[in-house]
Amino acid sequence: MRKICSIDLDDILDYYPACWVDFINRETGLNFKNKAEAIKALSPEGYHSWKDRYRKSEFKANLPIRESALDLVECLRGRGYFIVVVTSRPFENYPQLADVTAKWLAKNNIPYDMLVGKSDLLSGKLLYFDFHVDDEMEDANLIAKVVHSAFLFDTQSSAEPKQHSIIKNKGS
Ligand SMILES: [Mg+2]
Repeated sequence: MRKICSIDLDDILDYYPACWVDFINRETGLNFKNKAEAIKALSPEGYHSWKDRYRKSEFKANLPIRESALDLVECLRGRGYFIVVVTSRPFENYPQLADVTAKWLAKNNIPYDMLVGKSDLLSGKLLYFDFHVDDEMEDANLIAKVVHSAFLFDTQSSAEPKQHSIIKNKGS
């Protein structure tokens, strides 16, 4: 049986949330250093309004790829894995975002077999996975309950895993 793994997209294959903050700064002329600063300074309505514009824009079509993650995906492909890219991007509310995302994956030559919503993975409705890679501890803990094990590609969290099947790797 073919080996299957899933990899979260944002903040592994790209540099979210830095790219999102770059968008806000570019559009507003402000200079937020991070997402927390933007949330604090903008009203909830303002923040969500910018998020809506971000999701409707073509900005995500040109995001830089995290080269170390590309190396990881290519290595997994070389080892024969069926690769599922997982995302929380709300395709149901922003249908063009699915197309932008697929084109971005193709443009950056990211080898993958399926693009699915994270909620589908969490529901346990999908195929058996050998492991999942995520940057968010909360999601890694949840997903580790439904797949064999999870790796935490840790770019910002200092939290410790709740599930014993999580292996924490330092992202770069
Ligand atoms: Mg992520």
